[in-house]
Amino acid sequence: MKSIDPQAYIDGVLANKRPLVAKTITMIESALPAHQKVAQTILEALIPESGNAARIGITGVPGVGKSTFIERFGMMLAEQGHHVAVLAVDPSSSRSGGSVMGDKTRMEKLSLHPRAYIRPSPSGGTLGGVAKKTRETMIVCEAAGFDVILVETVGVGQSETTVASMVDFFLVLMLAGAGDELQGIKKGVLELADAIAINKADGNNIQNAQEARQEYEAALSLLSPESKVWTVPVLTCSAVTMDGLKEIWETISDHRKKLSAAGQLADKRRRQATDWMRNLVEEGLKDQFYSNPHVKQRLAQITMAVESGATSPTAAAHELLALYNQ
Ligand code: GDP
Repeated sequence: MKSIDPQAYIDGVLANKRPLVAKTITMIESALPAHQKVAQTILEALIPESGNAARIGITGVPGVGKSTFIERFGMMLAEQGHHVAVLAVDPSSSRSGGSVMGDKTRMEKLSLHPRAYIRPSPSGGTLGGVAKKTRETMIVCEAAGFDVILVETVGVGQSETTVASMVDFFLVLMLAGAGDELQGIKKGVLELADAIAINKADGNNIQNAQEARQEYEAALSLLSPESKVWTVPVLTCSAVTMDGLKEIWETISDHRKKLSAAGQLADKRRRQATDWMRNLVEEGLKDQFYSNPHVKQRLAQITMAVESGATSPTAAAHELLALYNQ
């Protein structure tokens, strides 16, 4: 294989040359060990140039209007002069063979805007794997000068917790009258939110949206606030008419100002960085364990012994860990 010169990529990203930004991200997403090695060298060089963007997570059930919202919200910010990158965390994209999110065809205008960049969810593997690539892609985008990063995820399963752990601000989009259960509104999602926005507050739906807003405000008032300087607001908006989008950006900016002044934004990022490190160590250990030749050789047999009841799970785990440490 031809050797790859990392410096060309580093320079290209720092100059915001789109083809090189895209190629660098492709390298990060590649499973080839040679690509992974170069990607790490590039990332190490880019990290000092990263960290300056407003990192915003956006979640909501399918159909809530995420891509319509991101298209319009992204256009509004790009028109104001911001450089907007849209990323997605969608572990299901590896199964369906194509991303359902961050899809260029769903954000036609934004994808053509010179100050916007849309990258679909990396396909391939576990939520942890997809999230790792998205975090690294975020670093590349920041080093390239994007000052707003929108990370989209579907509000099902664990992915919203994962996205909340990589952003400064987590926006949960909701629908009026869709029923809590339908929207997967567990207490957990409300706890992750820095703001809730009831979308589709337009036409005949405005009244419903106002009512839903009051209900969510009541539900939120029962939770103890995570930050002393921030009360989670419930807003209404329409991605179609663009009503309320300006207010959402003002809310995000206000959150940023208040948390920064209290030193909480830096704290949050530090905590996220150490959590990420621990996650990587745990994933790395798992990989090492399962690829260890002694473990590989005996794993199937020991698993069968546990299934048949011949060995206890505890004894089997001890034996496997001993094999790993051999
Ligand atoms: P996603 O699955 O969350 O990405 O949702 P989409 O953005 O694809 O939107 C689902 C449907 O809702 C589409 O038909 C949109 O046109 C529509 N939609 C999205 N936002 C709004 C809104 O604010 N008002 C109305 N009336 N329809 C909307």
